[in-house]
Amino acid sequence: MDFVGKYNTKSPAVKRLMREACELKDPTEEYCAHPVDDNLFEWHFTVQGPSGTDFEGGLYHGRILLPADYPMKPPNIILLTPNGRFETQKKICLSISGHHPETWQPSWSIRTALLALIAFMPTPANGTIGAVDYTPEERQRLARKSSSWECPTCGKLANHLSKSSAGKPVTHDESEMIQNVIFKGEETRSEETEHNASGNQDAQGNIGASGPTAVQENQPSNSPVFDSLSNILIALIFAVMGFIVYRRIYWL
Ligand SMILES: [Zn+2]
Repeated sequence: MDFVGKYNTKSPAVKRLMREACELKDPTEEYCAHPVDDNLFEWHFTVQGPSGTDFEGGLYHGRILLPADYPMKPPNIILLTPNGRFETQKKICLSISGHHPETWQPSWSIRTALLALIAFMPTPANGTIGAVDYTPEERQRLARKSSSWECPTCGKLANHLSKSSAGKPVTHDESEMIQNVIFKGEETRSEETEHNASGNQDAQGNIGASGPTAVQENQPSNSPVFDSLSNILIALIFAVMGFIVYRRIYWL
């Protein structure tokens, strides 16, 4: 991949992403990531499901979208492989809970984000946006199926990760960040945000703890009274239409 000449190498984002592309060149057992189509700001990654969880043995592929002012702003992640924890094809944002909510440190990297994603997968979904809460059996079934999943750009997942390279050990700073990370779907509708506000707070306060696993479903806003009235109305319309058809057929 030749990024020199295509990008302004004086830009901090370009400099930083070129360095990270070089550092992540060789896949490890746990993760791999690379820019796609010579675009430094869109990467594809594969991570291994954490062992001892429903995701064990699973391989999960996705896109990483990097903001123009990376690493001042965090990357966004989109999972493509069905996994039972995050919706696919939906942007999930990475933020940090605890003392500094919504902060991202420029010293963190794509590697840190991937390690955090792996660590975050088994935490309860708690109804946060972009999260799904499948049964353990369903997640295990998806994990088994995942190695035959294929990315149109990168090919079959089974060939992505290294069989032997453990990768760099996790630093103290990274492990602290991983403890505090939360991922959530991009909040586009304020109504949805309000509806899920309590779920989000719970997720932030209870990372790693075994909290409730029920998904908060959006309740339909129509009341039962309104429902039965509309049913009667629909039945009446059908009766009138039936009567008109009957008249046309037999009386004319
Ligand atoms: Zn891919």
